[in-house]
Amino acid sequence: MDFELTPDERALADLCREFAEREIVPRAAQWSIEEKCPTDVLRKMGQLGLLGLLVPEEYGGVGVSTVAMVAAMQHIGKADQSLAAAWQAHLTIGSLPLLKFGTEEQKQRWLRPLAEGAALAAFGLTEPNAGSDAGGIETTARRTADGWVLNGRKMFISNAGTDMSFGVTVLARVVEDGSKLGYASFVVERGTPGYTWGPKLQGIGWRALDSRELVFDSVCVPDDQLVGDADRGLGQFLEVLETGRISVAALSVSCAQAVLDMSLAYARTRTQFGRPLSKFQAIQFKLADMATETEAARLLTFRAAALRDAGRPFRREAAMAKLKASRVAQWAVSEAVQIHGGYGYMMESPVARFYCDAKVLEIGEGTNEIQHLVIARDLIAASA
Ligand SMILES: Cc1cc2nc3c(=O)[nH]c(=O)nc-3n(C[C@H](O)[C@H](O)[C@H](O)COP(=O)(O)OP(=O)(O)OC[C@H]3O[C@@H](n4cnc5c(N)ncnc54)[C@H](O)[C@@H]3O)c2cc1C
Repeated sequence: MDFELTPDERALADLCREFAEREIVPRAAQWSIEEKCPTDVLRKMGQLGLLGLLVPEEYGGVGVSTVAMVAAMQHIGKADQSLAAAWQAHLTIGSLPLLKFGTEEQKQRWLRPLAEGAALAAFGLTEPNAGSDAGGIETTARRTADGWVLNGRKMFISNAGTDMSFGVTVLARVVEDGSKLGYASFVVERGTPGYTWGPKLQGIGWRALDSRELVFDSVCVPDDQLVGDADRGLGQFLEVLETGRISVAALSVSCAQAVLDMSLAYARTRTQFGRPLSKFQAIQFKLADMATETEAARLLTFRAAALRDAGRPFRREAAMAKLKASRVAQWAVSEAVQIHGGYGYMMESPVARFYCDAKVLEIGEGTNEIQHLVIARDLIAASA
């Protein structure tokens, strides 16, 4: 399988690299301290077309391949994981429900501003009592004469509470006369009566990502805010998550690459026993292992992306990429701090920021235990 970028895709990756060096690297540490999503930077990314990567031009996007998105993510994620986390959630799980299942009118009304960079997208699946068990959600949608009434809570939702957020695409259980029917998803716009959110949650890492609890208290939405089929909402959300796993895998690879680059630079300049650390075989072996594992994770991620681009099934490969890449990132940040010694342990060191950011890669968009289940189920079904 050939992952060679086309000239246009290479230009996109170069644009992201230059943007990251100029606009993100100098400010990322401060965003983490302030714990505020840098929406000014996301807006600038929007002006460059970077908020509509997977959306076709007819809906305001630039319609590049998944492979190109993965390549672009390498540069933004290497500069700052929090910002890249917000960005990838917008590009995939945030925008794709509307692109894949929305009506023409919904695409023009909500997807276009998202793709053009005027607004930030959010995906509301997880609840206080339903994370891995997505089918166990308790948020309800009751049909009325005018549309639907939503009640419930969502947990850990990224991008819903910023000054750039338009609202959220949210999954609910359809109920009628006390009986549970199927699942349906809806757009709930910011400002809708009964839709509120809690304070920004404070994570170990991704400290500039805006993640919150959302509350739906008798929220009325008209029929034209139902996204896709009123029975297939869960399947729609799970389908979108498959692409989300590719973007989290890409984010993980960028995390591993970032700390490898920092470790290489540090090992060449830090001197102990009269020699740079890079002359010690113990350090050389760490660097070689980090490079090898990062490359393996990158190849799995590009492969999943290329399968999606080819219109072939990619559920197993996306889960494998996310499982492998998040593990590699989690392990690589620890090795990197070790190479940096006490300086890497201090919060002012960039390597410490990436150390804190890495853990969530094994949790978000399906934990690694859930990736194991997805891979195993697919393997067993294929072998039957
Ligand atoms: C920073 C951040 C941002 C997020 N953003 C979003 C977002 O934008 N939208 C959204 O909908 N969600 C979001 N999430 C939620 C995320 O997807 C969930 O946290 C994740 O799916 C796990 O759910 P949970 O936290 O409820 O853990 P649980 O499901 O309670 O799992 C707890 C532990 O049990 C394990 N476990 C559960 N079931 C099984 C099983 N059957 N077999 C083996 N092990 C199992 C899990 O792997 C995990 O280790 C975000 C989370 C974080 C931390």
